[in-house]
Amino acid sequence: MKKKHNYVKKSPWVIDYDVGGCNGCNLEVLATLTPRYDVERFGVVYKSSPKNADVLIVQGCLNKKAVKRLKKIYSQMAEKKVVMAVGSCAITGGPFAEAYNFAGPVDKHIPVSVYVPGCPPRPEAIIDGLLKALRMVKEE
Ligand code: SF4
Repeated sequence: MKKKHNYVKKSPWVIDYDVGGCNGCNLEVLATLTPRYDVERFGVVYKSSPKNADVLIVQGCLNKKAVKRLKKIYSQMAEKKVVMAVGSCAITGGPFAEAYNFAGPVDKHIPVSVYVPGCPPRPEAIIDGLLKALRMVKEE
């Protein structure tokens, strides 16, 4: 496997994908990435393309139409990638687990390394998850 540059270990680039649910987790993830919480102090940089990303944050209840797109985004990321499932919906389906279009937990479709429970989790919990993801990138 090709070795990553050092800057990846110090500054993981992050993208997020909201796969359904009520949008509550999406709002918390977006709040986490604002200057108020200043995740750039840990080197975290938000990107728009999966090809530039090391960490994928997935939040929301995964619906059947989003599965193909989720797998495509995951496949476009550079190795070695870390996936964070943020919120009860992404981890178990949460309040939408019985919905007709629920496609199952995110880790049924792509490998998940970090779980951040909550409905929705607070930005402090999401930052804790990001630091765990950063440690995983460093350990690679
Ligand atoms: S876990 Fe809760 S807040 Fe997050 S998307 Fe699901 S219902 Fe909404």
